[in-house]
Amino acid sequence: MVHFSPKPAASMPVAKSSAKLPYTLFGKTIPRRQAIALISDHGDPAAEIGKEEAGGQNVYVRQVGESLAKLGWQVDMFTRKTRPDDLPIVQHSPYCRTIRLVAGPEHFVPRDELFAYLPEFVAAFQMFQGQTGIHYPLIHTNYWMSAWVGLQLKQHSNIQLVHTYHSLAAVKYQAMQQRPAIANTRLAIERQILEIADCIVATSPQEEETLQTRVSSQGHIEVIPCGTDIENFHAIPRAEARTRLGFGLHEKIVLYVGRFDPRKGIETLVRACAQLRGGTVIRGSGAGNVLLRPLPSNIRLVIVGGSDPDQTDGQERQRIEQIVQNVGLVTQTRFVGQVGHDLLPLYYTAADVCVIPSHYEPFGLVAIEAMACGTPVVASDVGGLKFTVVPEETGLLVPVQNTAAFAEAIDRVLNDEPWAHKLRKQAPIRVQQNFSWSGVAAHLSDLYRRLLAQSISHSKVPFLNQLATPAVYTNPDRLASEKALTKGRSQGSGIKLS
Ligand code: UDP
Repeated sequence: MVHFSPKPAASMPVAKSSAKLPYTLFGKTIPRRQAIALISDHGDPAAEIGKEEAGGQNVYVRQVGESLAKLGWQVDMFTRKTRPDDLPIVQHSPYCRTIRLVAGPEHFVPRDELFAYLPEFVAAFQMFQGQTGIHYPLIHTNYWMSAWVGLQLKQHSNIQLVHTYHSLAAVKYQAMQQRPAIANTRLAIERQILEIADCIVATSPQEEETLQTRVSSQGHIEVIPCGTDIENFHAIPRAEARTRLGFGLHEKIVLYVGRFDPRKGIETLVRACAQLRGGTVIRGSGAGNVLLRPLPSNIRLVIVGGSDPDQTDGQERQRIEQIVQNVGLVTQTRFVGQVGHDLLPLYYTAADVCVIPSHYEPFGLVAIEAMACGTPVVASDVGGLKFTVVPEETGLLVPVQNTAAFAEAIDRVLNDEPWAHKLRKQAPIRVQQNFSWSGVAAHLSDLYRRLLAQSISHSKVPFLNQLATPAVYTNPDRLASEKALTKGRSQGSGIKLS
């Protein structure tokens, strides 16, 4: 049975916000905007970040959505409702909202079990369109399950389908002895979406290459990176940050920020910290006897990230705590728990180095957040981290899971002050120039416009009438060429592009 909880827009409860009504501003009626849908079936853009299953994807969808709304689109972000008391609609800003559809039970369901509920998600999405009269000519899906949703929708209507992977089965399952039951389905869908979508957004050139070599050589890919909010993530005086967080001014702070997941490699970081200069592990003569030389007393390992004892992230945290104890780092380590983006800049700024020891990372938002705050990054030499971190200029890249190499790299940042100072200066510049959300959204907006213009020129379908006065047509050159294109091919469609 298909459940559909959101009622027609007028009667739906909406989260309180300072947002103004969508189509009036200062008492004046403003032109209707082009509506687009971002679909993130399992990553709620309105969720708290930094806990089980809520990480980079949630941040990406929310930030992209809000930034696209600033560029003139009406952005509706669809996700699955996971709690009965969650509001069906959260209005983030006048033209950007999260819409929670009922598809399956209204409680947390692990990712690998969600596939069964996707047909309900598709039906709920279609019903929402029917009831509100909104048709989305462009849908941007996120993660493989939403890709399946997008593929179903594309079968039934003329939409432009854009997809961002966030994680790739071809990489994730590579090192796994036991694949989950859903593995083959996921691999097949990840291939299908690449071959069928109108455009795949790869977040790094490394991801693009992996897609082409390990998923399919067919398909249209554009590289548009992830971004960060450079107004929020920026350097603040270190002494101020440390005082506010209760850290000493002479401590050497090694920071981890992220979810508790074995793939994140926190174990490597903890073991590396135990080997920092002065803390070298010495094997005694007795079998299995390990002696630890004391670390310099001013080393602090700070681990930021939420967890729930009843979920898999809680189990991973327990495992990490055990390792911290085994290697003798209990007094030096602080488990901070989940921290919001409002306070995270303080942690990044307070730190001497931010370490990202992931086994694989399609992009890795934490790297650019840390760099934006002027913090050098030591990261695994994998995936998107190869793209964001420039060795010797904004940090160091280290062979994945190589404890000794991580220890050496962290030591170098902690002890070579003139060089670390140079990294701190260069890191924010790299982020400002390449990874601001506004820049990312401008690229995406340009891509959407091109795809919509293409679809206008290739189709006779009725949604053309809804493209009235899109506020996004702002580039005069593009506008002129799209006008010419549209005039020749879709006479009588009623489109106004000025
Ligand atoms: N994060 C957060 N609070 C925490 C831990 C993490 O806000 O306590 C955020 C972090 O700032 C980043 C995101 O979660 O924006 C993690 O994204 P990343 O791409 O690094 O990793 P993913 O979660 O996608 O594997």
